[in-house]
Amino acid sequence: MSGGGRGPVPTTVVLDVGEVLVDETRVFAVWADLLGVSAGTLAAVLGAAIVEGEDHVAAFAHVAPNVAWAELEAEHEARYGGFAEADLYPDVRPALAAIRDAGLRVVLAGNQPERRTAQLRALDLPVDDVVTSDELGAEKPSPAFFAAVLARLGDPDPATVLYVGDRVDNDVLPALEAGMRVCWVRRGPWGQLQDLPDGVEADLSLEGLGELPELLVAWRDGRFDDATADGGAEVSA
Ligand SMILES: [Mg+2]
Repeated sequence: MSGGGRGPVPTTVVLDVGEVLVDETRVFAVWADLLGVSAGTLAAVLGAAIVEGEDHVAAFAHVAPNVAWAELEAEHEARYGGFAEADLYPDVRPALAAIRDAGLRVVLAGNQPERRTAQLRALDLPVDDVVTSDELGAEKPSPAFFAAVLARLGDPDPATVLYVGDRVDNDVLPALEAGMRVCWVRRGPWGQLQDLPDGVEADLSLEGLGELPELLVAWRDGRFDDATADGGAEVSA
């Protein structure tokens, strides 16, 4: 895997939704309530599940083994009320606007159920397109998801597409496998806890979206230095 700054410059930025745009704290707080545990307990158990290579479903089963959580989804949705402006990380709107102002295409594409698509579009973010796994008929980490995203983009050279995600397993690795460039956003439970396998580097590794516009402009302008040891990015003066 080559580092950022070499090869084609990204002209399209495709962003994951959960923990890249949307802070999922409220989603899990409502789940904790429905499952009868505190938000802190569910968060701790979720973290342990992630470290074990499992998912939120395992955490739900652990804290409430006798609850059929899938049957509570309608109740969860009623209490959660869908994505709201307050769920967006504060760096999202300014970063997306600045990336577009720099002349790049910005697309949102994450694993989301159908009901989230309209909620996402209703937020009226400064983007060129919004598409979810439900509409694409494939979910991450399946290669079919990334192939469907590329088809939706008009089949550009995948190396000109930067995928921005928080999860190593669902975002970073399959996007690299699809030939895309990758920005790993290390926030939220997965972003904090997962590690890249030995020998794998993300083109960019950031704690949020705040620096992304400047880094993309630097990349385009050839002022990109990927010499940092952790695979993160630095911009030369
Ligand atoms: Mg995510």
